[in-house]
Amino acid sequence: METDIVSNIMGIRQRMTAAAERSGRNPENVHLMAVSKTVPPERVQQAIKAGITWFGENYVQEAREKIPAVGQNVSWHMIGHLQTNKVKYVVHLFDWIHSVDRIELARELDKRAAQNQRTLKVLIEVNVSGEVSKSGAEPSRVLELVRQISVMPNLNVQGLMTMPPFFENPEEARPYFVALRRLRDKIEGENIPGVQMKELSMGMTGDFEVAIEEGATIIRVGRAIFGERQ
Ligand SMILES: *Cc1c(COP(=O)(O)O)cnc(C)c1O
Repeated sequence: METDIVSNIMGIRQRMTAAAERSGRNPENVHLMAVSKTVPPERVQQAIKAGITWFGENYVQEAREKIPAVGQNVSWHMIGHLQTNKVKYVVHLFDWIHSVDRIELARELDKRAAQNQRTLKVLIEVNVSGEVSKSGAEPSRVLELVRQISVMPNLNVQGLMTMPPFFENPEEARPYFVALRRLRDKIEGENIPGVQMKELSMGMTGDFEVAIEEGATIIRVGRAIFGERQ
């Protein structure tokens, strides 16, 4: 059966509004990003028709084919682990990079962005859970990383991103969202010139309501929009 992207998005928006209101937040301060990994261009077009303007991709090769194929004026976000040697293939495709977790990657992004005469918005991906299998910077190193990136002319730090461990019960993800928000507040308090710490990219299909209650400004939703991935 064809998933109804339009009604999926409507349902998600209602749940987003309810979660924001429950926690005394303005629903307009939460942005719904559609995660389109493995989703073909035609289905991305349907999501655009349904009003989505931000899309997240994980894989360089897939993005290099899909983004030109979609060919519309929407905003693309790199949310997957990025190898430094692949940066040159993607700087012209993405407006945001959510997965900056090390200084070498930031340096390469800054250099290639300059060559393409553009500025990238970046989020620092944080490994809040400390799982060894996860990418993301250690929380204790994030402040230093932000300071180093703050002087790079072609990167603009906008905030933090995380992906907690998977839980059946989304309540169990809450402490990780709280930890990311507190780290954001701490770094924001440092008032580093050129650094914005407004954005918290957290929450996916299984846990976006909890993430919104804890301050998410960008939620990254794939399956709830496009259906289960193959
Ligand atoms: C795949 C992915 C998502 C979306 O996950 P869903 O469970 O499909 O909503 C969000 N963030 C990242 C980093 C992902 O890799």
